[in-house]
Amino acid sequence: MQRHGDREVWLTTPPIPLTTAEMDGVYGLPYARAPHPSYGDARIPAWEMIRFSVNIMRGCFGGCSFCSITEHEGRIIQSRSEGSILKEIEEIRDKVKGFTGVISDMGGPTANMYRMTCKDPEIEKVCRRPSCVFPDICKNLNTDHSDLIQLYRKARAIPGVKKINIASGLRYDLAVRSPEYVKELVTHHVGGYLKIAPEHTEPGPLSKMMKPGIGTYDRFKEMFEKAAKAAGKKLYLIPYFIAAHPGTSDEDMMNLALWLKRNGFKADQVQTYLPSPMALATAMYHSDRNPLRPIRREGSETVFSAKGLKQRRLHKAFLRYHDPENWPVLRDALKAMGRSDLIGPGEHQLVPAWQTTGGMGKADKPGADRPKPGKTFYTQQAGKGRRTPAKAGKPTGRAR
Ligand code: SF4
Repeated sequence: MQRHGDREVWLTTPPIPLTTAEMDGVYGLPYARAPHPSYGDARIPAWEMIRFSVNIMRGCFGGCSFCSITEHEGRIIQSRSEGSILKEIEEIRDKVKGFTGVISDMGGPTANMYRMTCKDPEIEKVCRRPSCVFPDICKNLNTDHSDLIQLYRKARAIPGVKKINIASGLRYDLAVRSPEYVKELVTHHVGGYLKIAPEHTEPGPLSKMMKPGIGTYDRFKEMFEKAAKAAGKKLYLIPYFIAAHPGTSDEDMMNLALWLKRNGFKADQVQTYLPSPMALATAMYHSDRNPLRPIRREGSETVFSAKGLKQRRLHKAFLRYHDPENWPVLRDALKAMGRSDLIGPGEHQLVPAWQTTGGMGKADKPGADRPKPGKTFYTQQAGKGRRTPAKAGKPTGRAR
């Protein structure tokens, strides 16, 4: 309990992680698997998303500082039994109206932490590390994907199930440890595109986010493309990035934009960081300090956060360097940063010196180019502002 003026904030005690039997008990309750009748015929987007999806576990040991899932669900992974999950898929097949044979997701807070635990339960009880995978994957962490692979295979074999998509966020730093898992995923469970979240390319912001370095993304991309080629499929990776996260300088965003350009990515819909309750990055944002670093005699580490509207817009503009509307502000910023060399028509340059008028001209539209296999490309989809990833071979929009 923490007093604030004449009020108090109460935090409930974190729950003890559930055992597999308890998880099965919870998920085996006779749910109606339908929206509450009070909604009537109203369309409920959240329901559309989850009606054919299956939760296989709770918890996350990633500890990404901008996310509070670890605080909500715990760092210890709580997995359901195979039998309980397969039974639920059969129930969806038999009872949920409109099922066409496609399970839209089989995952949880992450796609691939099923049954991953600390090798020693006694150490796990007392370990105070906020993440089992940052700054490196802990040597005590079991990263075996074989239970998950078996589960995918058994789920695919259920009569009446045509396809099982994996739409939960993939921890690619774990996935690279299992080529067999990447092959299984790519061959059977990715339809057109796979969304993953490197979140940034630069070590400064990545270390504040508690995310792996961009080298791990490159390794995963290589494995992904190799597996897609072997499966004879045209697949695309969609990487997500965050602008203006605590610890991000203008130069970091410029370097990210240069990386995007070098790799042929043009993000359409992008995300600018917002502090949210219970996330560690929120403490960084409001205190300008890094709570991950112990306070030494000389004081804790100062963390810069872009807070003013102008600078936050600049950080976002770097992510959308290809949009002519952003060119004036980017040119001004590059000049102020002493990087006028990045203004011009060259492949290595970020924005041209010339300007189109009135928004994006035909030649500037992201859809004017077509992606090469293995590249990600985003455009806005037509129709009522809906932005969803398109099918393989077509430009995609960022849905987040
Ligand atoms: S010892 Fe390692 S694997 Fe075990 S809980 Fe701690 S960080 Fe996670």
